[in-house]
Amino acid sequence: IETRTHNGYREAVYKTRRGGAIVIGKSIAPIESELHDLSITLTLTGCAIVAAGFLVGSFITGRSLKPINRIRKSAHRFANGDHAARVTINDTTSELGKLSADLNDTFSKVGESFDRQTRFTADASHEMRTPISVILAKTQFALLRERDPDTYRAILESCQNSAEHMKGLVDSLLELSTLDSPATQLNLANTELVPLVESAIDLIRPLADKREISITTEFENCTYSIDAPRIMRAIINLLSNAVKYNNQGGAITVRLKKNPTDIEITISDTGEGIAPEDLPHVFERFYRADQARTVTSESGTGIGLSITHAIITAHGGTLSVKSEPSSGSTFKILLPTVGDAGQ
Ligand code: ADP
Repeated sequence: IETRTHNGYREAVYKTRRGGAIVIGKSIAPIESELHDLSITLTLTGCAIVAAGFLVGSFITGRSLKPINRIRKSAHRFANGDHAARVTINDTTSELGKLSADLNDTFSKVGESFDRQTRFTADASHEMRTPISVILAKTQFALLRERDPDTYRAILESCQNSAEHMKGLVDSLLELSTLDSPATQLNLANTELVPLVESAIDLIRPLADKREISITTEFENCTYSIDAPRIMRAIINLLSNAVKYNNQGGAITVRLKKNPTDIEITISDTGEGIAPEDLPHVFERFYRADQARTVTSESGTGIGLSITHAIITAHGGTLSVKSEPSSGSTFKILLPTVGDAGQ
């Protein structure tokens, strides 16, 4: 028996011995039509799956690109000077969400640093303007007409005062910018603190004596790894403030103490104290509690405490202040000894 497909029929052919043949067949038209329908269905389904895949794919890509676009736009705004620009974060757990949070954090820090820099430049220019104006006004007055020698002397002294004030300001600004620079290295060396603090007191004593201010000391021997000239400067700043803002005949107490986890240096005075509203700002650059003070060579620049703070922080220590108006102030330096090679 042979099978074949012939003229739309599936046939079985039986050939007899005498050369005849018996053919049995069945039309395959219904099967072919079914196959045709099936191929159309399969083609349509295939197209639908490809189209759906494309739609879902572009939806997912669009969704995942959206935060990247938001990040790009925020970075662009920030780069163009809008320091308040931040990336809106909807999902803080995804990788992009975490990246956005990190970027926002960076934007905040860079923005704050820009603002600080701008304020600092404005404050520095403002501080410089006063003594320069004094020098200009005095010299213009002197040059208007002939003056007697005493007037010239008084004018020159006033100009000298203003110039000295400017020099102090410029030196302080240079010191601050050095301390701010990440490239600045402290020249650390193990140093006996008692002789260091004593020599700072010796430098200040003539000023204290002038105003009959007594200086009492309570010292414990300690050694610490410090940049000695800088720590000396920090202590001199605190001591000179303790004299400057003290009353005639007042007192200063300097303590050096070894605690279990740190070395404590305190400088207390019996002066006018600092008002509670000024206290949080005294370490800020150019902050002066008494804004009305006139500029002379002795008057402050408002950056002594900022420098002291920067020096102590660079040593890994802390500087804090406690004060009661009209009963005095205490400035405390803590230099950590635990987990530090200082001790
Ligand atoms: P200044 O050069 O004006 O002294 P500082 O940075 O040293 O600047 O101090 C900032 C301000 O803090 C001072 O102007 C003063 O108002 C206040 N201050 C600092 N030390 C004392 C102190 N021992 N007693 C009272 N006020 C102080």
